Formats: sequence, structure tokens, C-alpha cells
Amino acid sequence: MVTRVWDYLFEFENERADIMDAVETVFASGSLVLGPGVRGFEEEFAAWHGLDHCVGVDNGTNAIKLGLQALGVGPGDEVVTVSNTAAPTVVAIDAVGATPVFVDVREDDYLMDVSQVAAALTERTRCLLPVHLYGQCVDIDPLLALAREHDLVVLEDCAQAHGARRGGRLAGTFGDAAAFSFYPTKVLGAYGDGGATVTDRADIAGNLRRLRYYGMEERYYVVETPGHNSRLDEVQAEILRRKLRRLDTYVAGRRAVAERYREGLGDTGLVLPEVAGGNEHVYYVYVVRHPRRDAIIERLKGYDIHLNISYPWPVHTMTGFAHLGWEPGSLPVTERLAGEIFSLPMYPSLSPDLQDKVISAVRDVLETL
Ligand SMILES: *Cc1c(COP(=O)(O)O)cnc(C)c1O
Repeated sequence: MVTRVWDYLFEFENERADIMDAVETVFASGSLVLGPGVRGFEEEFAAWHGLDHCVGVDNGTNAIKLGLQALGVGPGDEVVTVSNTAAPTVVAIDAVGATPVFVDVREDDYLMDVSQVAAALTERTRCLLPVHLYGQCVDIDPLLALAREHDLVVLEDCAQAHGARRGGRLAGTFGDAAAFSFYPTKVLGAYGDGGATVTDRADIAGNLRRLRYYGMEERYYVVETPGHNSRLDEVQAEILRRKLRRLDTYVAGRRAVAERYREGLGDTGLVLPEVAGGNEHVYYVYVVRHPRRDAIIERLKGYDIHLNISYPWPVHTMTGFAHLGWEPGSLPVTERLAGEIFSLPMYPSLSPDLQDKVISAVRDVLETL
């Protein structure tokens, strides 16, 4: 059997009755779009964060896109973010007509180097978009201070950070709004696509509700500003309600897997994830680093272990963003990392036996490299 970085089938076996009951509940409810499932999930997900509003949307990319639009970010505006992220972060900025501006990441935890942000600001900067990458939070306080000082909005990309904390506070509660993805692999994952944007501001929540519903107030059938059709699906919402009740358990499971990797691989040449001071990591992915990354991945295939890289191509080097004019070499840490990082299997239902198989294969490969 091939071992992959992520698998949901073990979890589905454990939770099958609950998941199928969620499907049955929606099908039998008589309300298939924006019904009690979506409303219930929105209330529960907002409350889970101690926030007033959550607006469910169709995926994480659109949670960012609608979040930017709801905050008034659009053509002519610059949004400061990182290039070491999933492409959708940047695709969403591009989709609203704004221009992404990149800062480099830190060498130790691969997160936004906030000390570089001040130098990236121009008179067109409108928004700061930190990505809480891999499952831990960006050094958010100095970023919030900069936003206050320069009158900028902050949208957090929390697609990889459900349940992550910094200074005891949950990711998603720091900025003006925060975008989540419920893509199946995420820490809180649906059985298909889903996303949500959370906020404490009623005006932003109102904008989001119109933006996901063609640009209309749901009761009045009049478009004031054209929006999109970006609704969270009712079935996914009902499944997410069930899974939200287990989110703490999923996070604990991921931390146990991370701990076992540290015990099993801490004495090898592999650079393991570093948790920044003040952070509580949720290990969306378990990213390790080695200069001979490609050879390691290739040899592990001989053990039926197929690994991923998050991410092999920094966004600023992608052909689709060549028009932005970022030359190779402009973000040296991001570019170096892209050639050295890879991800070990990580999901809460990963069994200790399977994980030990991975650990011993990685040790074999490293010893004979
Ligand atoms: C997954 C992800 C997204 C996009 O979410 P989708 O639901 O796949 O659209 C955005 N940003 C980051 C950092 C992600 O990991």
C-alpha cells in the first residue's frame, strides 16, 4: 500500500455514521441552499473563535477574495503578503484587481518576516495579508501596529491555521477579517470544497453576505453592487458542524504525530519544524528541510512513500505572475527554501505503526544518501 502525505479514509471509517447522518439530515430537511446547516455552522464557527460573524463561502480562495472586496480592497491597491504560500493567496489578490507585494520569510519558521513589511509600504498599500502558514501564526503584533500607524486593513489567511494560537489567542481573531478554507486536507476539512470569512465587524459581514449572493440582500432581489455566487454548500456545512465539535481532538492528534516525528527523527540531519516563541502549532503540514531533498523524495518512493512539497515554486517565480516583475533572487530565503523543504505524512488518524514505517524509511534513506 502506498503511503501518502494525507489520507481521510481512516477518519471516515471512524466517523462514518456521523458524516452520513449529516448528509441524510440535509437531504431530508427540505432546505438545500443556505439553510439551517450553513446558519448553524456560521454561528458555531464564529462562537468557537469568540467572534460575532462568520460568512460561509464556497472555498478558501473565495473567502480571501470576498474578504478583500468586503474590506474595500480593489484595483489600484497594493496588498503586502508572502510568496512562500499556496498560490490561491495570491490568485485571490489578483482576482480583485489589486497588486500583491511580497516580503521574504524567516529562515527558522518560514513565516512572513514582519520586519520587512515597513519597507514594502507605498502610498498605494491598502491591506496587509499575513499567511499563518503550515499551522502556526505570523508574528502578528508588530504587523497590527504597522496597520494602525498607516491606516491599513488586515486580512488573515487562516487556511492552514484552524485552532492555532499566538499568545493564547486564536488565529483569525487578530485582523479586521480572516479567511478559512475547509478543503478536505485542512485541519478542519469538509468532504469537498468549503470556506468562510470571519470578522467582528457587522459592516464587513454585511458586505460578505451580499458578495456571496450575487450582490443582493437575500430578502430583496435587487443588486446594488454586483457580487458572486459563492455560497457554502449546505451538505458541507452540516458535515463541518459535526467535525467542528472534534476540532480540538484533530489538533491533539496532529500534535501527537509531530511529537513522534521529533522523537524518531530529531537526531538526524533533517531540519524539523521550529515553533516560534508564543505559538501553539496545529501542524497542518509537517515541513522538514534538507539540502538533498529531491534525492530523499525519490528514494522514499522505493519504500512506497510518496511525499509532497509545500511549495516547490514560490508564487513570484510562476509564469502567471511574471508581469509583476519579481526577478529570481528578489526573495532569497523563499527561493532557497523551495529547493529544500518537503512534507512528511501528517493527519490526525495517521497510525503509530504507519508513522514508524515512515520514520524508519526516512532514517534508512538519510543513512545511505
Ligand atoms: C488551501 C489554501 C487556500 C485556498 O483554499 P481553497 O479552499 O483550496 O480555495 C488559500 N491559502 C492557503 C494558505 C491555503 O493553504
